[in-house]
Amino acid sequence: MENRSMTCINCPMGCQVNVAYEIKDGKPDPDSFVITGNTCPRGKDYAISEMTAPTRTVTGTVSVKDSDKAVLPVKTVPPVPKDKVLTVAKELEKITVTAPISIGDVILSDVCGTGSNIVATGNL
Ligand code: SF4
Repeated sequence: MENRSMTCINCPMGCQVNVAYEIKDGKPDPDSFVITGNTCPRGKDYAISEMTAPTRTVTGTVSVKDSDKAVLPVKTVPPVPKDKVLTVAKELEKITVTAPISIGDVILSDVCGTGSNIVATGNL
């Protein structure tokens, strides 16, 4: 049995979750996962996601044109694959928006082919 520990980031409790697992075909076998340390079911879901297809929410800002605000805060919805975080962050640097924009508006669909959208988290 292999072991991997991680801190659940779904709430401020930050539970230390441990996953014991077997290797099958060169990677962790989801059927073998024994998950402990999570206080609630979200910790189990987080651990499974981290072991099989880790994702992260990218937050940042995009440039604004013709406004007294210099930037608009945005985030990815849903989270993007962890290995695409830097690519998506660089994509944010290329975006310029103009008013009006409301919280929740989609600024860019399917960013970098991830299936996630860049969504405004502020008003303009
Ligand atoms: S396992 Fe549940 S209680 Fe623990 S940090 Fe994750 S979300 Fe919070």
